[in-house]
Amino acid sequence: MQLTIFKRLTLGYGVFVILLIGLGGYVSFQLKHLNRLTRAVVLQDGETVRQAETLDSMTGSLARFEKKHLVTGDSAFFTRFQEIRARFLENHATLQNHVDSERLRAHLDGIGRTVTTYFQLIDRERELMGEGNYRRADIYHDRKADLLEQIRLSLQAIMVQARQARDEKILLSSRIRVHVIRVGIVAILAGGLIGLSISFFNARQINGAIKRLQAKTHDVADSRFSTLPPIESPPEIAALTRDFNCMCSRLEELNTMKEDFISHASHELRTPLTAIREASSMLLEGCFDERPDRQRHLLTIVNGECERLINSINRMLDLSRMEAHMMAYAFKAIDIMTLMRTCVLKLAPIAMAKNVLLELTPCSGLPSVTADEDRLRQLMDNLLGNALKYTDSGGDVRITLQSDTQTDGFLRVEITDSGCGIPRSELNSIFDKFHRIDNGQDTERGTGLGLSIAKHIVRAHGGKIWATSQNGSGSTFAFTLPVA
Ligand code: ADP
Repeated sequence: MQLTIFKRLTLGYGVFVILLIGLGGYVSFQLKHLNRLTRAVVLQDGETVRQAETLDSMTGSLARFEKKHLVTGDSAFFTRFQEIRARFLENHATLQNHVDSERLRAHLDGIGRTVTTYFQLIDRERELMGEGNYRRADIYHDRKADLLEQIRLSLQAIMVQARQARDEKILLSSRIRVHVIRVGIVAILAGGLIGLSISFFNARQINGAIKRLQAKTHDVADSRFSTLPPIESPPEIAALTRDFNCMCSRLEELNTMKEDFISHASHELRTPLTAIREASSMLLEGCFDERPDRQRHLLTIVNGECERLINSINRMLDLSRMEAHMMAYAFKAIDIMTLMRTCVLKLAPIAMAKNVLLELTPCSGLPSVTADEDRLRQLMDNLLGNALKYTDSGGDVRITLQSDTQTDGFLRVEITDSGCGIPRSELNSIFDKFHRIDNGQDTERGTGLGLSIAKHIVRAHGGKIWATSQNGSGSTFAFTLPVA
């Protein structure tokens, strides 16, 4: 799976954030636990111990006041005893509601029963004392002492258990605190390590790819347009590399075109310019001052070479624009028959001068085509010009048009001549720029660009162009155009 830079960064930070959230959740859970424990220590166990201590001290007071009353018979002591007894029972009931442990509750139930027996003995003792049997009243002395001892022991047991529970909770709190600190440290270290590893891996991969692109940019600046080996990941940089390679290929193509253009242009321009310079030098040196006919001849050469020069430059510029996809086309519906007639009319004088029959086969009911009129004229000029150029006197050049089911939405134009023909092996390469065939014809020198321009024009219209020929017995150039 290829991760985008955005996803990689999100993943890196995401892992860290998830760990922090997890850690936060864990810490808050443990804090709640600690809070519960603290509340239990303070409100439950601490309160139990405090209440048990109060009951213990009340037990002592009960024994003291009961004894004083027994010895002195003073009812004030008994009143005090009664007050403490009421408070004891009240506190005992409160403590019973307060405790949540079964064992403590069992102790308290036991205390309840024992203290009831104790108070019954006291009541019995009071009855005996009322009857004047002070001596007999004393018979409960040992029994009361036992009961009070039982109460005290039970209260001691409650205090011990409550303290134990409190200590256990404090110990557990301390363990939780240590655990939380450990988990926190481990989570932060693990999160940091994972986050750092992801960041390091991403940074290394992205940085490596960017460095390669940067180095390639320097190459491009130094006119070295070789493409980069593909980079698979991250996808953004992979796409950037693909675009960069497209740009390099295009620059390489343009560079080759530029070099081709310069080499052919210098060759094409040098010949006519040399002829012009030689002819003009001769005229300036007064070589033919006495021979106006020779002077005229030289001027004709200069004029002809200028014409050729302009023609060559125009063709080269046209082809460069087409190769760079910078030629603008204004497509519209065109009546092809009318356009063909004007092309034939334009070249008729040349045909007549060469004594070549130039004929447009009439054809009615043809559909209009979608084309750029100027470029279509240029195409016909090139093909008809060639046909006339390579056909000897007495020959013929025919143009036929047809729109049938075979051409499938296209109209086909054929220019057939009875000229020198083209070798089979050259039928494809003649459409390459600057490609010329030495067919032994004594024809004027061409630029080798006409057919290349024709190919670009037809392709820009969405059509096809091809040539067929029997060497020595004429050629046919055919192309198709989309029907409007
Ligand atoms: P040029 O300016 O040399 O004519 P083109 O690109 O128009 O350049 O043609 C390329 C070559 O194809 C020509 O040099 C010529 O040898 C050959 N050629 C083109 N048209 C014809 C034709 N109708 N008959 C014979 N040869 C042709």
